[in-house]
Amino acid sequence: MLYKSGLDIMLHDHMDGSIAMLSILEDLYKMAKLPFPFPNFKNYHDLQNQITNFMTNVHKDIVERFAMLTKVLQTKDALFLLGETYVKVRANQGFRYCEARIAPQYHIFGGLTVGEAIDAIVEGIKSGEHLYPHMEVDLIPSVGREVSSSEAVRLIREFNKADREYTPGIDLVCNEAKNKPHKHLEMYREATRLEYKKDCHVAEWVVDREPEEQDSLEKIAKNFNNDFNDLVENINFALFELEVDRFGHGIPVGYLFSRHASSSLCQTILEYEIGIEGCPGSNLKSSLIPNVSVLHIREMLKQGVLYSINPDDDLFLPNLPDTFDMCDKEYQFSPREKEQLRANAWATRFGNRKPVPRDVVLP
Ligand SMILES: [Zn+2]
Repeated sequence: MLYKSGLDIMLHDHMDGSIAMLSILEDLYKMAKLPFPFPNFKNYHDLQNQITNFMTNVHKDIVERFAMLTKVLQTKDALFLLGETYVKVRANQGFRYCEARIAPQYHIFGGLTVGEAIDAIVEGIKSGEHLYPHMEVDLIPSVGREVSSSEAVRLIREFNKADREYTPGIDLVCNEAKNKPHKHLEMYREATRLEYKKDCHVAEWVVDREPEEQDSLEKIAKNFNNDFNDLVENINFALFELEVDRFGHGIPVGYLFSRHASSSLCQTILEYEIGIEGCPGSNLKSSLIPNVSVLHIREMLKQGVLYSINPDDDLFLPNLPDTFDMCDKEYQFSPREKEQLRANAWATRFGNRKPVPRDVVLP
């Protein structure tokens, strides 16, 4: 069954923050011989609510919160189970193609090497795809950006030992405010040398704020305006220095297309057919935008920007259909625009092991 949005593809999804974790989390804790933090859950809906409350607790650091999930993903068996379950869950939701990212550096505390951690997930994906042969899931090994620039280069070289058919691209993830894209120029040069497709979390957030600084729409709108130029600067760096093929979030891009379409930033996005993985539901829930209208999605579609809608972490943030509905309510997409959102994702995917569905008209 296809989601009512018709979207059968997603490009921006964190495997360890995905809904695939829900049904296996308790088992993963058992496998790790650790006490399950949510022992009294009534059903999966209730468990998801409890996890959401934990993961969206703004008083905790993002890496610390993710440790609740990553600490039970430290063995080959656990990572295999995640890879396999991910394919099954997404296939049953009606997806045909998904790119899921994971940062292997958070999965080596049990003694695995970076390469072994990636291989275990890829083996799980292969097992899942064996059951759902129409489905393509590709893993995007990512660097948690708090590491030094030389460590990031080393990680990219480790990534390159994995099966490249299933790991076509790389990404840079986590706290952008503390680690601007500028820090990892060398990592991207190495990725270019190794002929990876290059993605980057960029222009998501540039200031770490206390919760009370984001507790009203007025404050969120003010922060958004204050941060705007720094967000744009990071996109410029990702485009012109890191030479990315796609980027995730890119919150100000739509506004730039609505006001400054002749700028070199906008013209380069069009000329080089750079994909943008929008995550409007994630941005809204994270108090980074006051509403989805500031993303100017219609303007981007009108001008031919290869923008797609994605969930980010649907274990505890809005899933793809809810994110789509939230945007559709604001923009009331035409059938043509809906088709564009889907085709844009197919056109900018990194993997290419299986054919594009026949009804997709690529831009
Ligand atoms: Zn993300």
